[in-house]
Amino acid sequence: METGKYIYAFEEGNKDMKDLLGGKGANLAEMTALGIPVPPGFTITTEVCQLYYNNERKYPPGFNAQMKEAVEALESKVGRRLGDPKNPLLVSVRSGAAISMPGMMDTVLNLGLNDETAEGLIKQTNNERFVMDAYRRFIQMFGDVVMGVEHDKFEKILQDVKDVKGVKLDTELDAADLREVIKRYKELIKRETGEGFPQDPMKQLQMAVDAVFGSWNNPRAIRYREIHNIRGLKGTAVNVQTMVFGNMGNNSGSGVCFTRNPSTGEKVFYGEYLMNAQGEDVVAGIRTPKHLDDLKKEMPQVYKELTDIMTRVEQHYRDMQDMEFTIQEGKLYILQTRTGKRTAAAAVKIAVDMVEEGLIDRETAILRVDPTSLNQLLHKQIDTKAKLEVIAKGLPASPGAAVGRVVFTADEAEEWVDDRGEKVILVRNETSPEDIHGMAVAQGILTAKGGMTSHAAVVARGMGKCCVAGAEDIRINYDKRELRVGSYVIKEGDWISLNGNTGEVILGQAPVIDPEMKGEFGILMEWADNLRKLGVRANAETPKDAKVAREFGAEGIGLARTEHMFFEGDRIVAVREMILAEDEKGRRKALDKLLPLQRGDFEELFRIMDGLDVTIRLLDPPLHEFMPQTKDGMKEVAKQMGVSIEVIEEKVKSLHEINPMLGFRGCRLAIVYPEIAEMQTRAIFEAASRVSEQGVKAKPEVMIPVVSSAKEMQILREVVEKTARAVLKETGADIQIKIGTMIELPRAALTADKVAEYAEFFSFGTNDLTQTTFGFSRDDSGKFIPIYKEKGILEQDPFAVVDQEGVGELIKIAVEKGRKTRPDLKVGICGEQGGEPSSVEFCHKVGLTYVSCSPYRVPIARLAAAQAAVRNK
Ligand code: PEP
Ligand code: MG
Repeated sequence: METGKYIYAFEEGNKDMKDLLGGKGANLAEMTALGIPVPPGFTITTEVCQLYYNNERKYPPGFNAQMKEAVEALESKVGRRLGDPKNPLLVSVRSGAAISMPGMMDTVLNLGLNDETAEGLIKQTNNERFVMDAYRRFIQMFGDVVMGVEHDKFEKILQDVKDVKGVKLDTELDAADLREVIKRYKELIKRETGEGFPQDPMKQLQMAVDAVFGSWNNPRAIRYREIHNIRGLKGTAVNVQTMVFGNMGNNSGSGVCFTRNPSTGEKVFYGEYLMNAQGEDVVAGIRTPKHLDDLKKEMPQVYKELTDIMTRVEQHYRDMQDMEFTIQEGKLYILQTRTGKRTAAAAVKIAVDMVEEGLIDRETAILRVDPTSLNQLLHKQIDTKAKLEVIAKGLPASPGAAVGRVVFTADEAEEWVDDRGEKVILVRNETSPEDIHGMAVAQGILTAKGGMTSHAAVVARGMGKCCVAGAEDIRINYDKRELRVGSYVIKEGDWISLNGNTGEVILGQAPVIDPEMKGEFGILMEWADNLRKLGVRANAETPKDAKVAREFGAEGIGLARTEHMFFEGDRIVAVREMILAEDEKGRRKALDKLLPLQRGDFEELFRIMDGLDVTIRLLDPPLHEFMPQTKDGMKEVAKQMGVSIEVIEEKVKSLHEINPMLGFRGCRLAIVYPEIAEMQTRAIFEAASRVSEQGVKAKPEVMIPVVSSAKEMQILREVVEKTARAVLKETGADIQIKIGTMIELPRAALTADKVAEYAEFFSFGTNDLTQTTFGFSRDDSGKFIPIYKEKGILEQDPFAVVDQEGVGELIKIAVEKGRKTRPDLKVGICGEQGGEPSSVEFCHKVGLTYVSCSPYRVPIARLAAAQAAVRNK
C-alpha cells in the first residue's frame, strides 16, 4: 500500500485545507504563512483518524516514521528537544475537526514534562513553582484524558494537600506542596491503571494522539454531531504545537479577543485577558478578566502588535475573527483564530458594514446571516442574562417572550384580560379552534402535549405569539385549576414566563427586552429582495396579521384560512345554526347571516393588501370543530340556540368521526353543501367590488382545499365561477376571477396534469401533504418523531422541514405535470415548512413561484430565498 502524507507542518498548509487539517489546523497554517507569531507545530490529518478507525485502531504504514520526522523538524525549528533535560520542548496536543465542536474532544497541555525535564526547566526558568504547577497540571490532564483515571480523584488529592496546609486556593500552594501533589498523583495512576505515569515524552505523545483520535467517537462527541446535524466528516485532526506560557510572571498573560463586538457588531476591538494566567483561567471565570483596553495602558507595545494583527487577520479572512493569544515574558503569540460567533444583530451589522468597507460583496453579506436567527430581531425576548428559574422545557413552537398569569381556559383568558385588564398565559393540555379567542388575548400559550405543527403551534406562529408546546412534564388539573411540574404547584393567577426561542417555562415574571429594528436590517433585506427569485407571501386572515405581514415585506397573502373568521363574536352562532339546519333551505338561511360578516372581513383584507394577491381558501375543517365538546359547552349552546341539549348532543354524536382529518372536510364539504362555497364566493367578490369602488385594487384568488381528483375541481370551479360571474354582473366591477387548488393529497400531486385543467394556481399544503404521504397524524406525531430522529429513521421533523425525498418528490411531480397542462401555472407552498430556510431553498430549486408563511417568518423567508438564489446561481 502506498503511503500518503499524513502530517503537515504549519508552514505547509493553508485555510482552504479544513477538510484535511481541521479548522484549527488550517487556520494555524494560514496565520503562519501570513507571518503572524504562531508557536510552531504540525497537524496530523483527519485522514489518519479515518484510517485509524477503518483499520481497528491501527495507524497506517509509514505513519510512525512521519511522526518521528515531524517531531525532529519541530525540534530543530525551536531549538529545543523533546525529553532534553537541559532544554526541553513542551507541546500541546489538541483536537480539531473541519467543523468546530467546542469542548467535545480531548486536549492535553504541557506534554514533554517528566521528572528530568521538569528539573531542567526549573534551572532554565528559575521558577520552581511555575514548573511544578505545569507538571502537576500535565499529570492530571494526562491521567484523566489519556489514562482514564477519574478527574475527581485528582481533585481530591489536591484538596487534601490544601486542607492539610489549611489553605483555600491552588495559588497558595508552594513548590514543595506541589511536589507532594505530583507524588500522590503518580501513585494514584499506578494504583488505578497498574501502569506508571509514562516518563518517555515520545510515548506520552503517542498516547495523547491515540486519546485524541479516540475522543472522536466518545458518546459526547457523537451526540454533539447528532444534535448539530454534522455529517460526512472524516474525523478529527490532531494539532501538536509548541507550548507558550502566559503564567510565567507579571509580564506574561493570556486572553481572547474579537475583531468586532460580537454582541452588537460595532467595529471596535473587543476582548478580555488576565496577566500571569493560562488560557483556561480566562475562560473558567475564577478571576475576573480585564478588558482589552487596559492592555493598552499595561503593555502598549503588545497592545499595538495585537490590534495590528487583528486588523490584518480580519482583512485577510474578510470576516469577524475570534482569537486566542498568549503573552510569554512580553512576547505575543497567537494560538488560534476562527470565525467569531455572534448575535443576529451583530451578524446583520457586520455583514452590511463589511460591504460598505469594501471587504465583501452583497451576495456574501446575504450568506453571512442565518435566516432563522432573525427571529431574535423580530420578537420581544426574555433577557437571558437575568437569573431565571426554569421549571420545565417544551418545544420552541413560536418565538418571542411571554409573561403573564396562568389561566386554564380560553373563556377565563378573555375574562381576565378584557374585564380585569390582566396579562395572561393560556395553559392547556392542547388547544383546539374553540380556544382561538383565548389565544388571541393571551400573552403566550403553553401546552403539555403536541408538536411543532399542533394546533397551538400553528395558530400561535400565525398570530406571532409566543408558544411553548409539548412540555411533557407538566400535569394540568383543570378541576383544581392548577398545574404541577416536579415539586412546583402553580395555581390559576400565578405568574409564569415563556421563552419561545428555547421552549423554557420560567417561574415568575422574567425580564424581557424589546426588539430593535436597526437600519442595517432594512438595508440587508433590500439587498435580499433584489437577489431572490421566489416571491414571499404570508398566511394571514386577521387584519392585524395582514398588517404585520405587509410591514415585514409580504407580497400578498398565500393562505387566508376562512374558518378562523367563523369563531369570532356571534358568527359561531350562525355557523352552528347552519350545522344544525335540517335541509338546504335552513342552511342557506344561516349562511345569509354569515355573508355580510365574511364580506366585511374580506373588505378589510383587500384594503390592507391593496394591489397584492389575496388567496382565500374555502372552508376546510370538519364541522365538529365548530361544536362544543364538553357537557357544559353543549348546555350553553343549547340555550343560545333555543333547542334542547339532546338536539346538540345528537348532532355532536352524528358529526363524530373516527379519523376526522381524513373525513368530511376540505372540498368534500362544498361538494355535499355547495351553498357554503356559494356564500363564501359571493362574500369574496362582493367585498372586492365594494373596495374597488373606493379605489382599492382587490386581487382575490379562490382556493379549494383537500382536492384529490380533477373532477372535484371541475365541479367546484363551476360553482365558484358561476357565483362570481353573477356577483360581478350585479356590481359591474372589473375583478379577475382566479380559481386554484391546494395540493395536499398524494393523489392530487400524481394527477396534477388533470387537476391543472381546472386550476389556475396550485399551493402545496405541506402540512396535510406530509401527513398523508407519511401516514403520520400531524396532531399525534409528537409522540414518536423524537424517537424516529434518535434512531436515524428521520433526520428532521417532516412537519417542520420539507421531506425532500418523499414529499418533495410529489411536489416535483405535481409541478412538472401541472405546468405541462398549463405552462404559466402559478405554484406556491403554504404549509408550515414555507418559512423554514432549507425548505425555501428546495422550493427555489424546483421552480415554485412563491412561498407563504406566517407573518413573523416573512423576513426569514425573504433572506432564505435570496440565499437560495445566490447558492444555486
Ligand atoms: C396544509 O395542509 O399545509 C395547510 C396549509 O392547510 P391547513 O394547515 O390549514 O390544513
Ligand atoms: Mg391542509
